[in-house]
Amino acid sequence: MNSADGSPSTAIIDAEAIAHNVGTVAEYVRPAKVMAAIKADGYGHGIVTAARAALAGGADWLGTAHLSEAQQLRAEGIDAPILAWLHSRDTDFSAAIGEHIDLGVSGWELDRIAEAAQARQRPARVHLKIDTGLSRNGATIEAWPEVVAQAAQHQRHGLISVEGIFTHFAVADEPDRKETDEQLEVFREALSIAEQHGVVPALRHAANSPAALSRPDAHFDMVRVGVSIYGQSPFADRTAESLGLRPAMELRSTLANVKRVPAGQGVSYGLTYRVDAPTTLGLVPLGYGDGIPRIAVGGPVLINRRRCYSAGRVAMDQFVVDLGPDSDAQIGDEVTVFGGDSGISAAEWGAAAQTINYEIITRIGARVPRVVI
Ligand code: PLP
Repeated sequence: MNSADGSPSTAIIDAEAIAHNVGTVAEYVRPAKVMAAIKADGYGHGIVTAARAALAGGADWLGTAHLSEAQQLRAEGIDAPILAWLHSRDTDFSAAIGEHIDLGVSGWELDRIAEAAQARQRPARVHLKIDTGLSRNGATIEAWPEVVAQAAQHQRHGLISVEGIFTHFAVADEPDRKETDEQLEVFREALSIAEQHGVVPALRHAANSPAALSRPDAHFDMVRVGVSIYGQSPFADRTAESLGLRPAMELRSTLANVKRVPAGQGVSYGLTYRVDAPTTLGLVPLGYGDGIPRIAVGGPVLINRRRCYSAGRVAMDQFVVDLGPDSDAQIGDEVTVFGGDSGISAAEWGAAAQTINYEIITRIGARVPRVVI
């Protein structure tokens, strides 16, 4: 399928698959609530499409990194609870309060948020973040008592309302590693310290997709799931299908050129690939300008129900596939890069590019039109 605007490639977004996947995750984690992470343009699927589909599938909350992402949803009329958790000095906390957007906070934001609440004459809703070992955002366990005390004081003054306490895991995608247990221990300690300060929010949340799908002891009151709702496995050794998930993005293109080449022919920049026998090469008009990593070596595609593989370096706008010596492929033939019923996963492209499915789907560029089905 070529897109309506004549682009050679299309990302077909299956909104029902997103809704289905939210339902599947909800079954894993019941009675915990589900927050759908729709940051980074819904992991490349379109933020509004992803948000609406997730809510249709039963998501209780939406999660974004930036406040601007949450505001985009509000501007679209989405009034579900939203948490935005990654702020900078310039974040407009006053706007968040005005638009009923909950704020994830590490500590430094608290006074500024309280100031904004004072000016607005309305309490800000916050979720305190404890860094239990990932060393990204969140207060360290050493700083935690002070952060909680500060939050408790603002809460007493009616300037903030602590709605949640949360953390994020570092290695939940590797279920055998002990660090997740250690993080859970620190999280429980943080909850108990908060309780001592009279801070007992209704929403304790920790689990990302891998923890939601493999660690019932990490479900608490809510899970925050991203990659799984897009139908991608968060585990290197488990397929999406085996987890009951349906891929929500299918990347399709059409062959832009087909040619016979003799043995020894070099392919693409650097001539890093040479055919060892006469073959047919096909040209796929997708490149790193569209989010296909330059280093993807041997990425699979499906053409006329046959798998073949990328040959040589991916260029900015195109990559070459080796169609094999007896191919009768024609210019215009459909190419499925991953998803749909191709049997090819974004994870396979991740493996070819030394990265993960998260990055493959999220980086599909703006030049590739999304067609929502
Ligand atoms: N929570 C936070 C704080 C995140 O940054 C992310 C994504 O990176 C998620 C939840 C969702 O993670 P996943 O896509 O593994 O479910």
